[in-house]
Amino acid sequence: MLKTLARVAVAAPFAFLSAHALAAPGEGRDVAWDILADLTTEVGPRLAGSEREAAARDWAVARLKALGFANVRSEPFTIPGWIRGAETAQLTAPYPQPLHITALGNSVATPAGGLTAELVYFASLDALKAAPDASLKGKVAFVDHAMRANQDGSGYGPFGQVRRAGPALASRKGAVAIVIRSVGTDSNRDPHTGVTGFPEGVAPIPAGAVSAPDAALIARIAATGKPVRIALVLEGHPVGPLPSGNVVADLPGRDPKLPPILVGCHLDSWDLGTGAIDDAAGCAIVAAAALRAQQGGKPLRTIRVLWAGSEENGGFGGVAYAKAHGAEPHALAMESDFGADRVWRLKFAFANGNQPLADRIAAALLPLGIVRNDERANGGTDVAPIITAQKLAVIDLEQDGTRYFDLHHTPDDTLDKVDPAQLEQNVAAWTAVLKIVADEAGPISGPN
Ligand SMILES: [Zn+2]
Repeated sequence: MLKTLARVAVAAPFAFLSAHALAAPGEGRDVAWDILADLTTEVGPRLAGSEREAAARDWAVARLKALGFANVRSEPFTIPGWIRGAETAQLTAPYPQPLHITALGNSVATPAGGLTAELVYFASLDALKAAPDASLKGKVAFVDHAMRANQDGSGYGPFGQVRRAGPALASRKGAVAIVIRSVGTDSNRDPHTGVTGFPEGVAPIPAGAVSAPDAALIARIAATGKPVRIALVLEGHPVGPLPSGNVVADLPGRDPKLPPILVGCHLDSWDLGTGAIDDAAGCAIVAAAALRAQQGGKPLRTIRVLWAGSEENGGFGGVAYAKAHGAEPHALAMESDFGADRVWRLKFAFANGNQPLADRIAAALLPLGIVRNDERANGGTDVAPIITAQKLAVIDLEQDGTRYFDLHHTPDDTLDKVDPAQLEQNVAAWTAVLKIVADEAGPISGPN
């Protein structure tokens, strides 16, 4: 009943529902939607190391077993924990205004009762870099920058640096805290969280992100030249080691001697939304496609599904997988971690001898509107460590990221944002690829 209601609720905003609405029972067509809807409904937010992430692992083991996967297991590891706390911010001068803020992962807490200090405006990360050493002593740095949406998501590399590197840089210059403009492309008043880091020897400081409209407000006020002051309460803070884990499951192939195909996603999510596009969708796509690739006959090779834990706070699941399985040969790895919008582009990282295989895959995807690009595929955080360790072949099925960073790491990352027809296109594309690679009898390997 719940599933039916969810489908109806989701159906309304989208015009192209045929792929989902016409799905025949027993064809595996609803597997992806059901994983996505049920994980986001029955578990919801699942912060790395939390009790909810543990609940997601239990949920995942039960679901993958029920779907017919073999060797379904949870593989535990430990992470440095971080928990969120109260988080508020107000400009106190020259114009008192409440702001919408969220702490970044690995932020430390503000002192009891919060802190109030001068806010120093920087238009970019480069402007912060250029500030003289110790010039931020006793002050809060604010770093502005306006990320723009693009289809391939490539803005996340440079703009994401403000979140990844900005806090450590501000700390080195003496700041007592840092506030950044959210790394996102929307104009909603939801801030975007995400992980930051403080290298050895750099004192961690409280670090938060404000929504884009709040960043624009700060920029307008800073431009007046009047001193700006901010009151901050950010109580999120590191805690000791916490339990996490990967969920791994196999669909055994006809020839157990052939190295398997590894397909990955991550099971953990940030805690503000329900982790629908990041990354329940990816787990739904890889598992549904692995199952559908078996229809019409079991492939030669085993397809292994990795639903990784603790990706968001530092890619711990991928590292743990490579450590646990580094001695087992693998053939090829792929990952889905960029939402549920349609696949539009295809990349390979194949040995020269596998070019005919790449050509066959590219030809199979062309009817789905997916074009080949000659840049090298790199997989993603959850499969990168095993790819590097074993020089694996990689295929990237790149999704349309135009609206991904409107939602990424916000309270708005929820089920209703997923278009069932585009989700189905993803499963169809992945299935087409898996059918070919899992039936390849010859050696498959990455570039030397
Ligand atoms: Zn993700």
